[in-house]
Amino acid sequence: MARTISVEVIYRGIFQKTLAKNICRGIVLAARKEGKIGIAFGRYGDSPERNGIPAKNFAIVAPNEEELQLSMAQYEPEQTDVTINVDDMMCKGVESWAWYGLQPINQKIREQGTLIVTSMLPAEELIKFCHTKTHPYRLAVLQAIPSFSGLWVYKDDHTDVRILGALPKVCPELVSLDSVLAAIKEEWKDDLKAKSARRSFEQVTARTVRPGEGNPEVPYKFDLPGWKTMREGVTIDGIRLGEPIKFGDEIGGYRPARNPYFKKFSTRTMRPVIDFDKCIKCTLCWLQCPDSCFDVMPDGTYDLNAEACCGCGVCEAVCPVDDCVTMVNEAAFGDNKSQWEMFKTDKAGYKAWVDAKIAHRPERSHGFRYLGQYQEQVAKMGPAAGTPEKGSAGPGGRKQMGAGAEGGEE
Ligand code: SF4
Ligand code: SF4
Repeated sequence: MARTISVEVIYRGIFQKTLAKNICRGIVLAARKEGKIGIAFGRYGDSPERNGIPAKNFAIVAPNEEELQLSMAQYEPEQTDVTINVDDMMCKGVESWAWYGLQPINQKIREQGTLIVTSMLPAEELIKFCHTKTHPYRLAVLQAIPSFSGLWVYKDDHTDVRILGALPKVCPELVSLDSVLAAIKEEWKDDLKAKSARRSFEQVTARTVRPGEGNPEVPYKFDLPGWKTMREGVTIDGIRLGEPIKFGDEIGGYRPARNPYFKKFSTRTMRPVIDFDKCIKCTLCWLQCPDSCFDVMPDGTYDLNAEACCGCGVCEAVCPVDDCVTMVNEAAFGDNKSQWEMFKTDKAGYKAWVDAKIAHRPERSHGFRYLGQYQEQVAKMGPAAGTPEKGSAGPGGRKQMGAGAEGGEE
């Protein structure tokens, strides 16, 4: 190994922190088996990491200490050999105040580097979300649900070791499969986890993403003032008052002004779809939305500002009318356009759009809603998934859950 190899794991703050940490730690432990030197470290994405905010962990593996020190002098690697995305909806881009705009998921990947995504969607669907690059890179999809593995009560679904197993296949320079398996056995003391990693190695494939392939939109960004252009003292602009909405001949309602620098939508994995014909104008969604995402429209209904929505689902929970607000997997949407304007322009078309979005929404939920849902989802991952034998005990006697395992979600 003649050069330093950089891996980043982009994860959902808090929920996937342990998963990201396990992956990066596993990489370094495996590299050490080959006499390489490495370091795994986290970097906050928000302060503190808030629920769902994209954040990053890194693993740097170097041929010697001098090279490692050199790469550690940087805030984060300028280029990565592998970027790992453990929630497929972050393919649309990731945002946190630390990144000053929307950062494409593939921004750091070097030419012929690899993006690994855990997803139940095919590569072609994911590429539509990823911003275009000017050089080719590779996309590897590991069939998996967005895992909360390692978060308190959530069960171990082997996502960490499955990703570790895929790494020697997509980046053989980083570590060998033998080293990964040896590190897994030593760290987790679990042969089943090693088996999952080997399966993943055997089954993962990557496809080249050509220059210009993907989402052509330019991600939003803004300029920070330099130290010569900053205002004196510490002043933070307040949010201005909002104003009435104009749409065609209609003027009325109220749209609050919003922070133009923090849009929040990359936090979202689901978004509300509103059936305006069913709305009884009770105001509850508008009152209860923690991010003030709803605009009061001239006709008294409430439209979602999709750039501001973080997808918490409170509006669906408080709406008193059946199927008036329905949370739908973010994978079903390609833009952040106004639903109300679509409704006003073509009511029949909008009704068909709502019905299609609700009836055919790709499955996604905030955690597990019913007993047995976890087992159903893990089973869908297919033979590549970790499939712990029924009732097998993991470290500390913890029960490992998987397809066909007994028990439910606490
Ligand atoms: S999901 Fe609903 S309540 Fe939550 S931020 Fe979005 S609009 Fe607001
Ligand atoms: S909570 Fe439901 S019924 Fe009430 S205003 Fe919002 S969308 Fe309409």
